[in-house]
Amino acid sequence: MRYWGLFIAKLAAVFGVAAALKWLIRAVVPIGYTATRFGHAPFSHDLAYTTAMMVYTLICIGLLALVVIDQKYRCRTCARRLRMPVNSGSWSAATIFAPPRTEFICPYGHGTMTQPELQIAGRETAVWVEHKDIWEELESLGPKR
Ligand SMILES: [Zn+2]
Repeated sequence: MRYWGLFIAKLAAVFGVAAALKWLIRAVVPIGYTATRFGHAPFSHDLAYTTAMMVYTLICIGLLALVVIDQKYRCRTCARRLRMPVNSGSWSAATIFAPPRTEFICPYGHGTMTQPELQIAGRETAVWVEHKDIWEELESLGPKR
């Protein structure tokens, strides 16, 4: 729930910035004579306004991409940034049996995200594996009593 709440909050912030930027463009960029005289919409009839709106669109797409990329590398439970990237697999010989991938882990042990680095059979998505109890898992790897 926290994961999606943070995502919605970041999207709301981006939409707020986009609305403020659009208001600023309309306030600062002058509309040309042709657009105002004949009642045309300024977009595609006024070069300065059209250029400003194209730059505005690129900025908005960039902000949305930053939000999505940032969200991808967050814990699905606590929404903290995933840490400790560990590379595994091999680029040279065993790309079929051990494809290269990067694993990220939540600093509080909620889960692990495995990001495939090799896209042989189409686009492969990251896999999130939630840990039930990381301490129990770690104790099972230690010496037997
Ligand atoms: Zn977490």
